[in-house]
Amino acid sequence: MSHVLAAVAWPYANGPRHIGHVSGFGVPSDVFSRYMRMAGHDVLMVSGTDEHGTPIQVQADAEGVTPRELADRYNRVIAEDLRALGLSYDLFTRTTTRNHYAVVQELFSGLHRNGYIVPKVTTGAISPSTGRTLPDRYIEGTCPICGYDSARGDQCDNCGNQLDPIDLIDPKSKINGETPEFVETEHFFLDLPALADSLRQWLDTREGWRPNVLRFSRNLLDDLQPRAITRDLEWGVPIPLDDWRDRPDKRIYVWFDAVIGYLSASIEWARRTGDPEAWRKWWSADGQGKDARSYYFMGKDNIVFHSVIWPALLGGYSGEGARDGEPGELGRLNLPTEVVSSEYLTMEGRKFSSSRKVVIYVRDFLERYDADALRYFIAVAGPESNDTDFTWAEFLRRNNDELVAGWGNLVNRSVSLAAKNFGAIPPVDPAGLTEADQALLDTAKAGFAVVGDLIARHRQKQAIGEAMKVVAEANKYLSEQAPWKLKGADDKPRMGTVLHVALQVVSDANTLLTPFLPHSAQKIHELLGGTGVHAPMPVVEEVDDLDGGPSYPVLTGDYTVGARWESVPLEAGRPLAAPKPVFRKLDPSIVEEELARLAG
Ligand SMILES: [Zn+2]
Repeated sequence: MSHVLAAVAWPYANGPRHIGHVSGFGVPSDVFSRYMRMAGHDVLMVSGTDEHGTPIQVQADAEGVTPRELADRYNRVIAEDLRALGLSYDLFTRTTTRNHYAVVQELFSGLHRNGYIVPKVTTGAISPSTGRTLPDRYIEGTCPICGYDSARGDQCDNCGNQLDPIDLIDPKSKINGETPEFVETEHFFLDLPALADSLRQWLDTREGWRPNVLRFSRNLLDDLQPRAITRDLEWGVPIPLDDWRDRPDKRIYVWFDAVIGYLSASIEWARRTGDPEAWRKWWSADGQGKDARSYYFMGKDNIVFHSVIWPALLGGYSGEGARDGEPGELGRLNLPTEVVSSEYLTMEGRKFSSSRKVVIYVRDFLERYDADALRYFIAVAGPESNDTDFTWAEFLRRNNDELVAGWGNLVNRSVSLAAKNFGAIPPVDPAGLTEADQALLDTAKAGFAVVGDLIARHRQKQAIGEAMKVVAEANKYLSEQAPWKLKGADDKPRMGTVLHVALQVVSDANTLLTPFLPHSAQKIHELLGGTGVHAPMPVVEEVDDLDGGPSYPVLTGDYTVGARWESVPLEAGRPLAAPKPVFRKLDPSIVEEELARLAG
């Protein structure tokens, strides 16, 4: 047993999340965490909503509410969506807690003491009406290179050149159309070049990473520049230095605070369990946590923050890098074991876009379809290692032909026949098992090592494929053995044996599928006469801020209960009730209906 941290990317709280958001890392991180817990590891799965930064400030201004009010609204919506999907967070919190502010400030202070945060006067774009930093992508103007009239401050989409907003001809704010002012302003920068060598040495020791992630990360190290970590903005974490902490116009920038959320959420979780030091078992590089492993799940656009910037913050705080220094009061901290990035999901051949209505929000999806139907689609056809496309026709086909006609049919046939003819799990005939019986039982048992190893190595598509092979073998076995034909009194013992074997394999396949399909796994466990929790589920709880701030909802749960990753022998004689269908067959008309909704 070991300590495993599942650190899941933080959704931005400026709107409800669509299925693209949960396909890349939300559901896969849950599959991984559920499997690791079932295999006996001590898993800590954390995340929360990312709530600072200009986009939330801009949207709040547009709606006439405070940024906090906007964040409160979407934090609640997002937590509820993730609960409905069954994502088993130990703690899903947010970045506006006082605990988070304190941990962010501690990391800032430690990095500053060790010399990795340096002040610098730069020319920055400011909105003249608000005095706030106008981020590069909120500035638009004519490209000085090709003359394209809608070039963004950071790059021109027409000629592809990287730009500096000050070079744009006739620059305008995309927020309110005013002309930005370019002023000298003092900010703090993270001295990434001073951490490049230690990052390179660390990357050289990484094993098992997807090669594209490792290659991409190494390339980033070749021209690392100091990176601004503060902004002229009043919405964010205050800068914890004398002469700065009380300034209302300067804040730590959102990317710096959000990435620290993995650590602050772990500390918050520990404080809530009543053992405030418990987080160290996953984080301390010396002592308790030195053998812990940490896995970070995100979309590919976020690799840089997890494979370079977050390790740089952790290393610099721990006193590693060209300037050495001393670890801060949290001690030396573990860098990521593995950065697991996913590719993109598109929808009906187009990029998801809330503004262009190419979107289906999680809650709308779950109003019409079951969570496990979506989880199944994501597992078999999600963007694990290439960009993939969600189409309603494919969703229908996967649901009806595979989930319902394959797995659902196996469960339904074997449980109904056994319930009707025996009312209980039938006994095995003393005459014993045939070769075919034994072969099927062996196939199912062998699945535990194969499927488990694939999930542990983040090959979930292959893993569920192997589990579904067991299902296909069992369906083939039932068709060949045709227990429904064994009706005579003499045949009944053999019928019992066949159904016993089939139900045992249903039970094993159900365990193999539990990380992927936890809602239906619980139902199937009960159909087989099982009691108690098979697949634990998260709950939303309203909690008090630990340090006196306003209360808020968190997602949490007790995951110490539930099935283990092993075959559990079924006892003959355990009563069976008449089954109810576990999965819903969908009418083909949903494809037209959904496409019509999409067309608006
Ligand atoms: Zn251009």
